[in-house]
Amino acid sequence: MSAKTYEFKTETARLLELMIHSLYSNSDVFLRELISNASDALDKRRFASVTDKELATSNELRVRLETDSEARTLTIIDNGIGMSRDEVVANIGTIAKSGTKEFAELLKSKDKLEDRPDLIGQFGVGFYSSFLVANNVVLITRKAGEDTATRWESSGTGDYTIDDAERDEAGTTIILSLKDVDKDDGIQDYTDSWVVQALVRKYSDFVSYPIVMDKETPAEEEGGEPTISEETLNSQKAIWTRSASDVSEEDYNEFYKHISRDWVDPIKRISTSIEGTIEAKALLFIPKKAPFDLYQRDMSKRGVQLYVKRVFIMEDCEELLPSYLRFIKGVVDSEDLPLNVSREVLQQNRQVRAIQKHLVKKLVAAIVSMRKDDWDNYQAFWTEFGPALKEGLLMGPEQNNKLLDVVVAESTKSDSGLRSLADYVENMSEGREEIYYLTGTSMDTLRKSPHLETFKEKGIEVLLFTDPVDEIWLQQNLKYQEKSFVSASHGELKLNDESSDDDDDSKNDDERSKELEALLSLLQSKLDDDIKEVRLSKRLTSSAACLVTDTGDMSPQMEQLMRASGQSMPPTKRILEVSGEHPVIKSLEALVESDAENAKLADYAQLLHGQALLAEGGQLSDPAGFAGLVAGLMVSAAANG
Ligand code: ADP
Repeated sequence: MSAKTYEFKTETARLLELMIHSLYSNSDVFLRELISNASDALDKRRFASVTDKELATSNELRVRLETDSEARTLTIIDNGIGMSRDEVVANIGTIAKSGTKEFAELLKSKDKLEDRPDLIGQFGVGFYSSFLVANNVVLITRKAGEDTATRWESSGTGDYTIDDAERDEAGTTIILSLKDVDKDDGIQDYTDSWVVQALVRKYSDFVSYPIVMDKETPAEEEGGEPTISEETLNSQKAIWTRSASDVSEEDYNEFYKHISRDWVDPIKRISTSIEGTIEAKALLFIPKKAPFDLYQRDMSKRGVQLYVKRVFIMEDCEELLPSYLRFIKGVVDSEDLPLNVSREVLQQNRQVRAIQKHLVKKLVAAIVSMRKDDWDNYQAFWTEFGPALKEGLLMGPEQNNKLLDVVVAESTKSDSGLRSLADYVENMSEGREEIYYLTGTSMDTLRKSPHLETFKEKGIEVLLFTDPVDEIWLQQNLKYQEKSFVSASHGELKLNDESSDDDDDSKNDDERSKELEALLSLLQSKLDDDIKEVRLSKRLTSSAACLVTDTGDMSPQMEQLMRASGQSMPPTKRILEVSGEHPVIKSLEALVESDAENAKLADYAQLLHGQALLAEGGQLSDPAGFAGLVAGLMVSAAANG
C-alpha cells in the first residue's frame, strides 16, 4: 500500500489546538502519557502471549528512550503489542474515540472545556500530548503476529500521512521532533538525559517494565573513548506492595494519574490488604471529578485493574466492585487467582466475591470517615458521586445498613447546605420515630412546598431530595438507626406532637371535618377524574390545598420514572387535602351552604386542584383550560371592584 494523506476529523484539529492552549504549562506530562501507552502495549503483549506463543518475544519486554541533541529528537520505543494499519487509523487518527459525541458537544461550549483542562484527560488524548513538545511526530509500529509495519506522521495541524514501513520486531517507535526549548512555555530540553531521567522518576517510576536509556560515562584517561551502557531509570516496584511510609503522597498521586489517565490528583486514597484464606492487596482512589459518562447506561471505562501476584491481568475489571462504586480507580492484586483467569471465571468466582465484599466495606468506611472528618471535601465529593452511591441502596439489606451512613441531603433545618442522616437523628426530639423527607425535581420548589407548612410550624426537620434515584430508595422501607423514612407528601400525617393540646387538635379536626362534609363531597364529585378523595388536611397552615399520595400508591415522580424507562402507566389518583381555616375554603363552604347548585363551583374545584398541583411543581394536564379559569376569575374580581 502506498502513502496516503488523511485529514484529521474537525474535532481532532480543534482539540489539539485547545489542548496545547490549556495544558502548555504542563508540557512535561507528554512523557508520562507516551510511557503509559507503551506500558499498556507491553501488558497486552504479555497477556496475549500466554495463550498464543506466536506472539511472545525472546527479548525482555521494555521501553527504551533515545535522545539525539543534534537532530533534536526524543524517541520512545517499546516491544509491545503494536498496531496494524487499520488500528493506527482507528486509534491514532481519531481522537476521543471513547466519547466522540459528548466530546463534540463539549467542544461547542468552548469555554467550559477551557475551564476544566482535566476534562481533556478524560477523552483519551494521551498520544496527542506529544504535540505539546513536538512539531512533528513519526510513529512506526508493527503488530505482534504480523509481518508488515506502518508509518504514521503528522505535524499536528490539519492532516497526517500513513505509509508502509519496516520494523525488525513487533512494537512501536515514536520519534518526536522537539520544539525549541522555551522556559516560559514550560518546554525543557528533552534531549538532555538528566531531564528525561528526572521525568521518568517523577511520573513513571512504578511502571512494571524497565524504562532504559543509554548512559555515557566519560573515559577515565584523557583522550579516551567514553563508555556507553544501558541504564534502567525506574525502580519498577509495584507501589501497592510498598509500605505507605516509604511512598510519598506525590508518588501515589502520579500512580493514580498513570492508571486513571486523570490529570488532577485524587480526593482520597484507600490501601487495604486481605489476609487469611484469601490474600489480596488493593490500592484504590476516589477521583476528584466524575467522568462525563458516570450516569450513562454503558459507562465505557469502569472498574479497577486486576493483577495476580504482581502480573497485570486486565484493565477495567468490573467484577471487583459493585456498579454503584464504578467511579473508584485503582489496583487489586490477588495472590490466589489463576494467571489465565477469564471474565467468565471472574463472574462466578467465590474469591472475587469475597474480595469485593472486603473492598466495599473498606470503601464505605472510608467514605463515612471522610463525611465525619473532612466535611468540605465530602460535600464536593457528594455532588460528584452521591447519585451513584445512592444506587447502592437498592441492592439489598447487606449494603444498605452501612451505606445509609454516607447519605447527605439538604433539609428544612437550614437554608442551604447538606445534612447527614446522623445529623437528622441527633436533631430529632425524643420519641419521634420517623425521618421525614420530601422528593421533587427542584430544590427551590421543594423548599416552598405546601407539604412542609405544618412541619415548619412545629419545627420538625424534613430532608429534601431531588435525584431521580431518591424516589426509589426512599420507598424501600429502609431503616436508619431504627427510624423509618416517611414522606411528607404521602398518606395521613401522624405527627405525634408532644404538645399537650394534641388531643384537642384532633377533636377539633373531627368536628371541622363534619362541618365541611358537604363541601368535601362536592369537590370530590367535581374532581372525580383526577382525585380519589378530598379530605381535611393536617399539613397546611397557609395554603388552601395540597395533593397527597395515598399510602402504598405510586408517587407522581415515580410514575414519571417508570414512564421514562418505557413502561406504560395509568395515572394514579391522588388525595386532595384542604385547609379548614383558609379563607378560600371558608368562602367555598359558605357558597355550598347557600347555593350548592351554583355552576361556578365546578370551576372553583378545578382551580383548587390546579393550584395545588402547581405549588408542588407538578404539571397541569390542561394548562390552557386552567389559564382560562384564572382569567375568568380575574374578570369577575375586577368587575366587583
Ligand atoms: P488512550 O491511551 O487514553 O486510549 P491515546 O490517544 O494515548 O489514548 O492512545 C489511543 C490508542 O492508541 C490506545 O488506546 C492504544 O490502543 C493505541 N496506542 C497508543 N500508543 C500505543 C503503543 N505504544 N503501542 C500500541 N498501541 C498504542
